[in-house]
Amino acid sequence: MILDGKKIKEEILEKLKEKIEKEKISATLAIILASKNEASKIYIQNKRKACEKIGINFEVYTYEETVTEKNIIANINELNSDKKITGIILQSPIYPHLDFDRCASEISPHKDVDGFTKENIYNLYMNKECLMPCTVKGIIRLLEAYKIPVEGQDILIVGRGNIVGHPLSLALTNKNATVTLAHSKTKDLNEKCLKADIIISATGRSNLITEDMVKKETVVIDVGVTRENGKICGDVDYEKVKDKVRYITPNPGGVGPMTVAMIMENIIEAYERGRENG
Ligand code: NAP
Repeated sequence: MILDGKKIKEEILEKLKEKIEKEKISATLAIILASKNEASKIYIQNKRKACEKIGINFEVYTYEETVTEKNIIANINELNSDKKITGIILQSPIYPHLDFDRCASEISPHKDVDGFTKENIYNLYMNKECLMPCTVKGIIRLLEAYKIPVEGQDILIVGRGNIVGHPLSLALTNKNATVTLAHSKTKDLNEKCLKADIIISATGRSNLITEDMVKKETVVIDVGVTRENGKICGDVDYEKVKDKVRYITPNPGGVGPMTVAMIMENIIEAYERGRENG
């Protein structure tokens, strides 16, 4: 069965739209773009479309290569103190002469709708309330939408990147899954895949997960995004794996749309917490 991220995204956006209208929420997302990366433009376009659809204001600050870290940090500080701004995203990657972590760490944790600042990651680590990294939250919401339990399940995450694999291992451990975190130095990946109830692959290596690594009960979540000859591919050999397993995400159309939906949800969460805290 297909885990249809596009469909679930639309359902989530519809609910958020209703809430925004009903409660007269006035929220604004600000994105800082400091690169010429083509994929970033597409990602920003997707966020813009989602914002427009549900009634969140949207601003983009675009910089040429002459920009300095000082300029970016000054922009972030202005946005931090601007009451009408609800969420701030520094679109990754940024120009190579700039330090992403140094700039992004200036974002107020209350407006950090990507969920990457130290405070939000620490709270995730401590299993406390936080703005959760959107892809991580999106994967969990997709499993929930299809009533796929995680508690007590053996979950193999392939990839320990800071954006997906590593924080996802914390979030799923918090949900009482038994998590194995695999990476490029892991031995016997095939064997580990065959033992897992759920495989979540976030490596960016196409065709890493093949049909001999899954069984008919397996749930497969494909997070990876690579571009080969202009076509988007995931980590999973989708055509051969899809008929063999119980559930699988298409790619594109699985985790990607859920990530966008969770950014919108985080913006509304940030708005509500801002309102509670005056
Ligand atoms: P990353 O930081 O580059 O991490 C990649 C991870 O994959 C590393 O931990 C690496 O191991 C591991 N890896 C590489 N080759 C492997 C192999 N042959 N076997 C096992 N593990 C291997 O990447 P990321 O930022 O976490 O992103 C991962 C992928 O998800 C990318 O393709 C990215 O584009 C995609 N992504 C998708 C979404 C979405 O919404 N769909 C959102 C975010 C990211 P080592 O640590 O040992 O090097």
